[in-house]
Amino acid sequence: MSFSELGLSEPLVRALEAKGYAEPTPIQRDSIPTLLEGRDLLGIAQTGTGKTAAFVLPSIQRLVAANKRVLPTHCRMLVLAPTRELASQIADNARGYGKFSKLTVATVFGGTSIAKNKNDLSRGVDILVATPGRLIDLVEQQLLNLSMIEILVLDEADQMLDLGFIHALRRIVKMLPKKRQSLFFSATMPTQIRELADKFLDDPATVSV
Ligand code: AMP
Repeated sequence: MSFSELGLSEPLVRALEAKGYAEPTPIQRDSIPTLLEGRDLLGIAQTGTGKTAAFVLPSIQRLVAANKRVLPTHCRMLVLAPTRELASQIADNARGYGKFSKLTVATVFGGTSIAKNKNDLSRGVDILVATPGRLIDLVEQQLLNLSMIEILVLDEADQMLDLGFIHALRRIVKMLPKKRQSLFFSATMPTQIRELADKFLDDPATVSV
């Protein structure tokens, strides 16, 4: 099975070829077609499985197809990650996979300058990768508006819970449009995570690797 057989468009396949990926990993094979259809997804997967590409590739394709121009201080896709390291890594991947797709990518996380975040967000950004605390700060300061979100991704949900982000996550999700695609990834599925997923997702497909 090739990346184009999964339904990915030429600019994405070209970026993957440039990276030297020979074929999709199991989570990519199982999630990409479903995500391209716009369905919600519950993914049970660890880091190292290729899950970042599994959610970034179809999301880029759907954002490009919807062809909406992002307004100042808005974003179209929000990826929430528990740590700044993971957020940076996801953003780097999104820039790489999207290099022929002309979307903008930014990251915001604690411990960096709010002034820089303000500048990065001022013209709006297609894909924003964020840690929950800084994201809420930016919304409260009206430097960021979440009303245009088309796609939400929660990555490493179990770690977010361990780090005490549950309240922040609930607050963020309340600010998003009801009509959106939501993706939820976790390495483990304890009861609390499953309940959170039930709340955030609408009739999700489940992929476990
Ligand atoms: P992740 O699980 O998203 O952290 O990805 C783990 C690593 O696998 C990253 O360094 C990716 O660049 C790499 N990777 C992702 N998909 C593929 C693929 N289909 N073939 C080879 N490497 C990949």
